[in-house]
Amino acid sequence: MANRYCNFATGDTIANKYRIVRCLGEGSFGKVYQVSDNIGNKYALKILKMWEIPQNLQDKILTRFDMEYETGRIECPYLVHSYDHGITNGTPYILMEYCPNGDLSHMPPSADWNRIAHEVLYGLGALHRNGKVHRDLKPENVLLKEDGTAALTDFGICGDRNHRVTIIGNDGKPMQKFGTYAFMPPEQLNPDKGEATVLPTTDIFSFGVMLFLLLT
Ligand code: ATP
Repeated sequence: MANRYCNFATGDTIANKYRIVRCLGEGSFGKVYQVSDNIGNKYALKILKMWEIPQNLQDKILTRFDMEYETGRIECPYLVHSYDHGITNGTPYILMEYCPNGDLSHMPPSADWNRIAHEVLYGLGALHRNGKVHRDLKPENVLLKEDGTAALTDFGICGDRNHRVTIIGNDGKPMQKFGTYAFMPPEQLNPDKGEATVLPTTDIFSFGVMLFLLLT
């Protein structure tokens, strides 16, 4: 049974549909499980740790979680796909494509970096064509599918030019910073203009840093 903090255990069923196989890991606001449906298909299921999110941030994080699901609905083999979403025991969840081969941070130097780099760029291209910017591209956010294809994930802080969630201050600058410092372009680290952090160039800079790190 799920306890009052909604930490699920192996064998628990979520939304009467998805059985927990194991916990894959957790980040700041989410926890990810491997689950299977009643015909044995494997998925990854991310829940929001609502009990750890300060009350004044909950509405914004919930909005971002919905946007994360929507971004995963973009049809592209290089983006981790979202299949379903809902609420279980008061905890929102997203059902995603399961990528069993880890992430780019675990790839050996001999990996086919040319192919992988192209796949990452195709994934970014699909986001950008849909008005979105990933804003947190790094090796841990590129997962490897069953067949080894690279796919972008963790769309939780994606910027959407048509749906700004970040609070803009009176001076026109964003009041929150998102992303991972080591991979951020200068304008994301120190935004002078409100629009600067939702331009595709943010991701292109992070792509360059990521490739440099992985190849050297
Ligand atoms: P944060 O947003 O703080 O980075 P998170 O809550 O989104 O964190 P992650 O760190 O992205 O959680 O994921 C937790 C673990 O689950 C990681 O080890 C990650 O590789 C794994 N994981 C996430 N999504 C999938 C997936 N679709 N398939 C397989 N493993 C996954």
